[in-house]
Amino acid sequence: MRFDLITIFPEFFAGPLDHGIVRRARESRLVEVHVQDLRAFTKDRHRTVDDRPFGGGEGMVLKPDPLFEAVESLLGHGVGDASKPSAADPQTAIVLMSAAGKLFRQETARRYAQLERIIFICGRYEGVDERVAEHLATEEISIGDLVLSGGELPAMMIVDAVTRLLPGALGNDASSQNESFSGITDRSSTVGARYIVPLPSTSTTQASTPENSTSHDSSVTSHALLDFPHYTRPAEYRGWKVPDVLIGGNHAEVAKWRRAAALEKTRRNRPDLLPGE
Ligand code: SAH
Repeated sequence: MRFDLITIFPEFFAGPLDHGIVRRARESRLVEVHVQDLRAFTKDRHRTVDDRPFGGGEGMVLKPDPLFEAVESLLGHGVGDASKPSAADPQTAIVLMSAAGKLFRQETARRYAQLERIIFICGRYEGVDERVAEHLATEEISIGDLVLSGGELPAMMIVDAVTRLLPGALGNDASSQNESFSGITDRSSTVGARYIVPLPSTSTTQASTPENSTSHDSSVTSHALLDFPHYTRPAEYRGWKVPDVLIGGNHAEVAKWRRAAALEKTRRNRPDLLPGE
């Protein structure tokens, strides 16, 4: 998997790329990350990347030409028009980071993990000339309902979320199948899902496992839960005890407790993930 990050702040990524799973994945050549300085693709003496907005208003806007030049030089060919499906290489995504984009979710990360290459365009200032969203980017993506000052952190979040899903990136590949949101794949597949609440269901007190949820009609939407709570030593800290069942060694009881606790936590923190709540 190759990531290219197009930015006016190339030094920004020095820290985040150099730690933990992303660092190991780079060292083992599982991923290649190339940070591209947008100014290198300007043609004027001042290396101008931004200009005033047509129609007036606050701030500056990133110009389209250096961004088109950057992406085309990375691809080694003209992009044609990314808004026309035939123009896009299905193995390459050109992702414009944008507060006004479609929401990035775990299922997006899973889809991206199947690709060969992702080129990220990191916006700054008031944003990016709209022709980039319309004719260059294959996707316009937001990492949440909030406005940041640049696309670098959002792009880095995606690099992280996708890298850890690549086979071999985690010490134990099962880890990425047993975590929050891992139940949502698509409507016809619940592979890798751990705790699924089948819909329609009146009984949300009992989560089901993938083994029995696969027997549901594939048109029935399944919802993933958040991860269950984790505990480690000491068994008692400042008087707060780890639940007895986790110490007892009864695997079936542990699994049952974890399902119930995951459901309880989802209800408390993210009721929107549960059916009918
Ligand atoms: N005027 C824009 C915000 C620009 S913020 C608006 O109101 O939508 C500057 C840049 O930060 C954006 O171009 C984008 O690349 C990045 N950015 C800000 N918030 C983001 C988010 N939630 N997700 C992804 N990128 C974001």
